[in-house]
Amino acid sequence: MSKIIVLIGAPGAGKGTQARLLQERRGIPQISTGDMFREMKTLDTPLALEVQEIMASGKLISDDLTYKIVRERTSKPDIAGTYVLDGYPRTAVQAEQLEELAKEQGKEIQAIEVDLPKDELMKRLTGRRSCPVCGEIYNIYSKPPKVDGFCDAHPEVKLDQRADDIEDKVRVRLETYEELTRPLLDYYAKSGRLTKIDGTGEVEEIYSKLQAVL
Ligand code: AMP
Repeated sequence: MSKIIVLIGAPGAGKGTQARLLQERRGIPQISTGDMFREMKTLDTPLALEVQEIMASGKLISDDLTYKIVRERTSKPDIAGTYVLDGYPRTAVQAEQLEELAKEQGKEIQAIEVDLPKDELMKRLTGRRSCPVCGEIYNIYSKPPKVDGFCDAHPEVKLDQRADDIEDKVRVRLETYEELTRPLLDYYAKSGRLTKIDGTGEVEEIYSKLQAVL
C-alpha cells in the first residue's frame, strides 16, 4: 500500500532537508506547505498579503486554507504513489483532515518525529542565511560563508535572512509547535504509527536513520 510519510518536528529540526533528499535520491515526491505558502505570498492578491503577514509573525495559516492547498497539490498525478509531507499536519484539525484525505487516496500514514533539543533549534533558525541568487544555505554558527554576510559563489550578493528567522519570531514558531503540533506525536503514537529519529548530527547520518525506519 502506498504511504503518506509525515515528518513531524519543530521548525529547524531538518525535516525539509530530509524530505528533499528523499525526493532526490528515492524519487519520493515531497510536499512542503511552508514552501507552497512562500511561493504564494509573492503573488499580488489580498490573500497573498494575508499569508505574508501571518508567516512573518511566526503564526500558522488557517487549517482550511492549508487543507485546500494540500488537497490540490496531492490531486496531481505525480502523487499517485507514496509521498512525503514536510510541515503538515501541524494542528489536531489538520491531522483529522489528513485522515480523510489518506482514506480517499487509499494510503496509510506513517509519522516520523525528527527530534532536536531547543537550543540547537534556536541556533539553526536564527543562524540561517541564504543566497537570493543560488539558494545556497549557510549558518553563521555551523556553516559560515567565507566572507561574513556574502555568498561564496556570488561574493557580490548579500545573504538573506528569512523574516521569520529573527529571534522573537523564532520564539513564536517554537511556542506554536509546542502548543499545537507536539500533541500530534501522541496522537500518532497511540495508533502505533509513530517512529522517532534523533535529528542531531550530520545530514547524512540522519538520512541513514530515516532510511532505516521507512
Ligand atoms: P515552515 O517553512 O514549514 O517553517 O513554514 C513557514 C510558515 O508557513 C509557518 O510558520 C506558517 O506560517 C506557514 N505554514 C507552513 N505549514 C503550515 C501548516 N501546516 N499549517 C499552517 N501554517 C503553515
